Amino acid sequence: MATQTYTGSCHCGEVRFEVDLDLEAGSGKCNCSICRKTRNWSASVKPDAFRLLSEPSATTDYFRNGMVHWPFCRTCGVRPYGHGDIPEAGGPFYAVQLACLDIADDILAAVPVRYANGRDNDWWHEPSEVEKRFL
Ligand SMILES: [Zn+2]
Repeated sequence: MATQTYTGSCHCGEVRFEVDLDLEAGSGKCNCSICRKTRNWSASVKPDAFRLLSEPSATTDYFRNGMVHWPFCRTCGVRPYGHGDIPEAGGPFYAVQLACLDIADDILAAVPVRYANGRDNDWWHEPSEVEKRFL
């Protein structure tokens, strides 16, 4: 699988985007406070691979830890993507929610998942097997 362009949206469709993504490059789940509560399952790309197709005003930004913006739809509350700049993780990025892509389940099921212990800032180790079930 090479890089392909996918579309995605929130639940109501007010927020729409397009992303150039290589799904074989993998995806991530994390146990930090926001990722766990939102069951964040995302894939990251450089900013030029992400294109917002809807009005920025369709979202409200959630920017609490000073690192990652988590905009969410003003109408339905779904959070289809995030973006930030973390030098330790390669600089500026966009992270799209795989669950928000217009994509077949069998393709999603084949995407490799990398788990991270973000809760303890220990990004290169996985949470326990039990905890992974909640992510
Ligand atoms: Zn919406």
